[in-house]
Amino acid sequence: SVPAAITSGISAGARRGLLIKGGAALEAIGRVRTVAFDKTGTLTVGRPRVTNVQGHGLSEQEVLRLAAAVESGSSHPLARAILDAARAGGVSLPDAADGRALAGLGVSATVEGRLITVASPRFAAEQQDLPEEFMQTVERYEAQGQTVVVVLDSTAPVGVIALRDEPRADAQQAIAGLRRLGISPVMLTGDNARAAQGIARELGLEVHAALLPDDKLRLIGQLPGPVAMVGDGINDAPALARADVGIAMSGGTDVALETAGAALLNNRVGGVADLVSLSRATLRNIQ
Ligand code: ADP
Ligand code: MG
Repeated sequence: SVPAAITSGISAGARRGLLIKGGAALEAIGRVRTVAFDKTGTLTVGRPRVTNVQGHGLSEQEVLRLAAAVESGSSHPLARAILDAARAGGVSLPDAADGRALAGLGVSATVEGRLITVASPRFAAEQQDLPEEFMQTVERYEAQGQTVVVVLDSTAPVGVIALRDEPRADAQQAIAGLRRLGISPVMLTGDNARAAQGIARELGLEVHAALLPDDKLRLIGQLPGPVAMVGDGINDAPALARADVGIAMSGGTDVALETAGAALLNNRVGGVADLVSLSRATLRNIQ
């Protein structure tokens, strides 16, 4: 019967670390035409490392100290990287108060009476003119395919931090597997275009970069459907909810696991193609 076939499909998935939350999710996955991926933590390992710190009127140590204090309130992978770098540099962290996340843009908090912001260069440039020399530093790191954040003291730019995140070992294969199933893979990311394009070229998929959470939502609605969105829930939970089916990475947030119709408990991004194959086979058994 129909329910029995679906139940056995769901159990077969569970045995392989593929959580499918019911028949509707299974059916949606079986019919998917486009799979949109978040980048950080989904196509990449999500353990970025700080590679360069440049002070602008401040020492590198001071830039890291202020940035890490602000990031101590954030669960973003970039925050962890900045905290690790500060710790490795032996910096002792001051307290941060009134921490605020600027979704998909950065974070800010009050540190020693100063309003410190750590954010994407694009966000900072929208707030005020950044000195040419400062922007040149940003562009130099971006040209190397790195993720770059800037540190602002009130509105004054005081530092640049460059970070590198590696693609997951199975990401290229995961993308190729989807193509073999006739599905178009696409990357949606809030990161800068150069860093995103470097990874997209390596993995072999189309990319839309420098997106805000709202832009990700809009694109989900415009891609050829049905669309699956794969993410970790950090700055992409609304996109997971908007897609015909959301697929959460197991390392992600609780919100992602709750909103998504499926989850990759084995934490392998290649599980997306396995989910599609399994769902299609299950639907064939019913027809
Ligand atoms: P992705 O789409 O690659 O997962 P996000 O949408 O989470 O990226 O973030 C997009 C950009 O916003 C980052 O590349 C960074 O410039 C900035 N950003 C987001 N969160 C933070 C944070 N906690 N600290 C610093 N910058 C951040
Ligand atoms: Mg993300």
